[in-house]
Amino acid sequence: LNTCFHLSGKTTNLLIDCGATSLVGLKQQQVDVNAVQAILVSHFHGDHFGGIPFFVLHAQFFAKRTSPLIIAGPPGLKSWFERAMEITFPGALAAKRKFSVEFLELKPSEAAEIAGATVTGFANKHGVIGFAYRIVAEGKVIAYSGDTEWTDSLIDAGHKADIFIAEAYFHDKQVPFHLDYETLVAHLPAIDPKQVVLTHMNENMLAMADTVPYDAAYDGLVVAV
Ligand SMILES: [Zn+2]
Ligand SMILES: [Zn+2]
Repeated sequence: LNTCFHLSGKTTNLLIDCGATSLVGLKQQQVDVNAVQAILVSHFHGDHFGGIPFFVLHAQFFAKRTSPLIIAGPPGLKSWFERAMEITFPGALAAKRKFSVEFLELKPSEAAEIAGATVTGFANKHGVIGFAYRIVAEGKVIAYSGDTEWTDSLIDAGHKADIFIAEAYFHDKQVPFHLDYETLVAHLPAIDPKQVVLTHMNENMLAMADTVPYDAAYDGLVVAV
């Protein structure tokens, strides 16, 4: 399934990315979607963002949500949301909702309080506007690279994090806009996270996932921080 991490604790409950298939994944994992307070978006590609219309429609018509939903992400977020909604479910934007949707367009490197967490987006390098995230919640630091080629802003996002979720698209092939495993590993001493979880792997990297000394994300993986 596409990228979506559910971060839940005593007071914080949010999604990090919500790719096109994420509602399917959340239902498979029996996540209480109405308890999700916020969705953080790394960038506006469909495998990270395209599930939001499904999430909102489901909340509106099936889950009978009444609590506010915060959607936070890079500048342009509200316009991308409206266009994605209109393309996916024409007419749905105008329909009345029993809950509010609040948009937080984050400025790079500026912290915001979201769902009981302190969230900072650091500009990454993916050919489109996008963020790596550093999330401080309940005394823990959760970091996520987003999709990106190597950039030192990943050190800002992930420095000494309790968990760093990092793209490892290729094993060792360096391409623009994406991170390969070898480049990531070369920079890990500078980031110095307590735990690494690899994500966004291509077929070749997935086939090698058992051979590397880090956790590789799979659908339904649960990690305690
Ligand atoms: Zn992308
Ligand atoms: Zn992606």
